[in-house]
Amino acid sequence: MIAIQNLKKSYGELEVIKGITTTIEKGEVITIIGPSGTGKSTFLRALNMLDPPTSGTIEFEGQNLMDKRTNINEVRKKMGMVFQSFNLFAHLSILDNLCVGQTKLLGIPRTEAEKTARELLATVGLASKEDAYPDQLSGGQKQRVAIARCLSMKPDILLFDEPTSALDPTMVGEVTAVIKRLAQSGMTMAIVTHEMAFAKNVSTRIMYMDEGGIYEEGPPDVIFDNPKREKTKAFIHRIKSYRYEANSENFDFIELTNSLLNFCSANTLSRANTNKAGLLSEELTVNLIPHADLISVDFSFPDSQTEFELSVTYGGESRDVTQSGDMPAELVKGIAKQISHEYGQSNMLSLTW
Ligand code: ADP
Ligand code: MG
Repeated sequence: MIAIQNLKKSYGELEVIKGITTTIEKGEVITIIGPSGTGKSTFLRALNMLDPPTSGTIEFEGQNLMDKRTNINEVRKKMGMVFQSFNLFAHLSILDNLCVGQTKLLGIPRTEAEKTARELLATVGLASKEDAYPDQLSGGQKQRVAIARCLSMKPDILLFDEPTSALDPTMVGEVTAVIKRLAQSGMTMAIVTHEMAFAKNVSTRIMYMDEGGIYEEGPPDVIFDNPKREKTKAFIHRIKSYRYEANSENFDFIELTNSLLNFCSANTLSRANTNKAGLLSEELTVNLIPHADLISVDFSFPDSQTEFELSVTYGGESRDVTQSGDMPAELVKGIAKQISHEYGQSNMLSLTW
């Protein structure tokens, strides 16, 4: 249905999308996930030329959207877009919201448009609201109307940009349920969302966006249960990570300890694990500093707080301070389950527990 080739998008100097090449097949339900600011909305808006790409090609049902001769308004009728903020017409009743596009843009007679509108309102569970106005509805109801309005245009694909993120948590379920039913009916959709459980069970494919493109994509069970790449793993497991960087001249271990403890406290880490992280980072750095130049301390753990990794990366001569008698052996043995050392241009000593 859609073929995207080397799509790029910059805002001035800022290159947000550095090259996306992918296809979307009829019947696919694609969810796009990733940290904020990675260009998920930009990508979606580029797809229907709401925010035209800087370069690349988008072919939709055989038509090149980047070609000036293509009538984008005609194309957009086939690509419905649902926004975070609903975008209903406040001065029109719910029924009129669902008829206006059909009559004005598709030239469908009013009686037929009303029939379609009522059927769609019934499918999103809002048959009784046809005479209401948008401000009389809850957020979840408004979003269901917005979806029904999109469907009234009989699009070939629906694009959703965080359809539930403006909703009160109690209303998320009613909207995701509607989207799930659409998925079961075979509707082709691309959905940007932060609702991971929903993404996992509605999608045929997950795109994880990072570093200006599709960083990793695949079926939901692979992306959620067995992601291959580092940033995907961190995002999926919601790994909390801390980093301190310094060179041997400006290394300040009070600053290190203090900021590490703040990080632990901000992420409600238990006192026992906070103490372990503090002790190890102090011992490792104090013993390495006399020999090392550039140094960074990384500490990370997943949301579940089940495993911890503390590592020190340093330049200069490698030195396993955990073995050389510099550090109290009981301390290391008492905490670390595993100690590993990598040597190269920089060296990394890491301990996990
Ligand atoms: P996401 O949806 O993944 O959170 P966005 O696509 O909204 O990310 O934004 C990606 C980057 O592009 C951000 O750094 C954002 O500030 C920037 N950006 C988005 N829209 C515009 C715009 N209209 N003008 C300038 N910069 C923009
Ligand atoms: Mg966004």
